[in-house]
Amino acid sequence: LIQLEGVTKVFETEEVETHALSDVHLSVKPGEWLSIVGPSGSGKTTLLAVLGLLDTASRGTYLLDGKSVLDLSPTERALVRNRHIGFIFQSFNLIGDLSVYENVELPLTYRGMPADERKARVEKALERVGMSHRARHMPGQLSGGQQQRVAVARAVAGDPLILLADEPTGNLDSKNGESVMQLVSELHQGGATLIMVTHDPAQARLGTRTVSLFDGRVVQDERLR
Ligand code: ATP
Repeated sequence: LIQLEGVTKVFETEEVETHALSDVHLSVKPGEWLSIVGPSGSGKTTLLAVLGLLDTASRGTYLLDGKSVLDLSPTERALVRNRHIGFIFQSFNLIGDLSVYENVELPLTYRGMPADERKARVEKALERVGMSHRARHMPGQLSGGQQQRVAVARAVAGDPLILLADEPTGNLDSKNGESVMQLVSELHQGGATLIMVTHDPAQARLGTRTVSLFDGRVVQDERLR
């Protein structure tokens, strides 16, 4: 499903060059749940940004579902991202002046999906995360745990090929964190392909595979199940 070959990402500022990723090779099969771990600055967020087509690599190739995606124009890249990738962020990233329903619907609208199909998908996604009863609420009226459930609904509503999560429980207390991880486990059981950055070793072990980064390199790749 995902194939990275020799992916390198260099950030250049006036005086310094930072190799955020150096010659990363990674292939991911459908249904895997990867935990990306490593110390601060090791390149985890950069790797997620490249995988999610939020950023491009300086060198290397990236095949997503067999198609090369690093040499796309910015417009094509945005289309592939919107169609095939679901994001879950540490800070939820919901739009404050849109309702729960509208937040989940927005990426589907961008895709040009007809209204009746959007409605069916939004309702199904909200039901899946247990938030149907909050559809007309605004994000500010919800707890952090509820906001993250809505963000999960938004990420899965379009049936993406991959779900990317960057510290999805980083802003939640342990009870809400556990419930969001329960939801993530259910998505995995339902067949989703998940790639999750985490600092929490216990959370990393929930996945099927752990990839450790150090200084922008993959230093360990361990299959757990
Ligand atoms: P953390 O766990 O602290 O979030 P991380 O493992 O996610 O860290 P990255 O954020 O991917 O690490 O950063 C990897 C390296 O690239 C760091 O040395 C960082 O300073 C550098 N870097 C990241 N983004 C930029 C940028 N936009 N411009 C310049 N350097 C950057």
